[in-house]
Amino acid sequence: MSKADCYSWATLEDDVRFKVLYCGICHTDLHFIKNDWGISTYPFVPGHEIVGEVTEVGSKVTKVKVGDKVGVGYFLGSCRSCENCSEGLENYCPKVVLTSGAPYHDGTITYGGYSNEMVCNEHFIIRFPENLPLDGGAPLLCAGATVYSPMKYYGIAKPGSHIGINGLGGLGHVAVKFAKALGAKVTVISTSDRKKDEALNHLGADAFLISRNVEDMKAAAGTMDGILDCVSAKHPLVPLLGLLKSHGKLVTLGVPAQPLELPLAPLVVGRKLVGGSNVAGVAETQEMIDVAGKHNITADIELVSMEDLNTAMERLAKGDVRYRFVIDVANTLKAP
Ligand code: NAP
Ligand code: ZN
Repeated sequence: MSKADCYSWATLEDDVRFKVLYCGICHTDLHFIKNDWGISTYPFVPGHEIVGEVTEVGSKVTKVKVGDKVGVGYFLGSCRSCENCSEGLENYCPKVVLTSGAPYHDGTITYGGYSNEMVCNEHFIIRFPENLPLDGGAPLLCAGATVYSPMKYYGIAKPGSHIGINGLGGLGHVAVKFAKALGAKVTVISTSDRKKDEALNHLGADAFLISRNVEDMKAAAGTMDGILDCVSAKHPLVPLLGLLKSHGKLVTLGVPAQPLELPLAPLVVGRKLVGGSNVAGVAETQEMIDVAGKHNITADIELVSMEDLNTAMERLAKGDVRYRFVIDVANTLKAP
């Protein structure tokens, strides 16, 4: 459970209460604010890349103790009994409770991490690695989990494989880092050459393609085992399918407001697959952040104050961020 007015919200026996320190700004927050998917409810307190410090634990909590650094991602509740939940895939539970703007089991609406403190059942708490910076690590709770899970599930990022990362934003840039850590060859596919130097020389990508450059795309046709499509807006899929080898997999992570066109001939001819993926279950999110701790993977962030939130949202809408905004919640959230 989470509530903006946590002071009146009890910490139950299996709950963890924590002070929010940092919260990333995911493009999903922006989709929700704009009601891009037609499912938003207002008032809406966004934020699902949350890192904080435990201030109180219920009597039955064993996972963490007061003072520990913890994280919460895209969801903080599920039925805990369906087939998905019993396999650790709470993210695919039909009754999953999103961290922001969703009805909790008791009917109250969840308010996300753009708030001073949160209360959450310990099952959905992620232990934060000691060595990772809290601000740069916060975006991993959603962006990191979202890119790591399909790399493993679809088997497209491993030694010997070639993965394409389409869209070098919040998701895309951490995808490059995880795919390299998992041993894959990585090609960034981006709309312009603006991020080329950073992709190759800072993020560690092996190659860079401009999706709007037909010649570039032709030259790379049939070379990739898989692509993670991290784009937030409507875009053509056929050029991406062309980059795949036979039996290659295009995994869509971005959820643009408008439907995309999907001609079927390229799939049939090359036995190619288009799939999707939604963040990661609790156990896999913990695995992801432990891998991040081992490889020192964090997001490249711009730290912003609560006061600058609207400007940050406007910049995110224009694609003007390198590569994730993170809100310095603890130092800049003031009482209204
Ligand atoms: P972001 O930081 O805004 O990055 C999106 C990237 O998409 C941009 O950096 C840009 O990359 C590319 N792009 C934007 N407009 C484009 C266009 N018209 N044509 C082609 N490329 C375009 O967003 P994000 O936070 O990474 O999120 C990306 C998407 O994933 C959003 O739709 C979000 O809701 C979704 N998401 C899904 C999950 C999940 O579990 N499946 C989890 C989190 C987020 P270049 O500058 O390189 O071209
Ligand atoms: Zn997100």
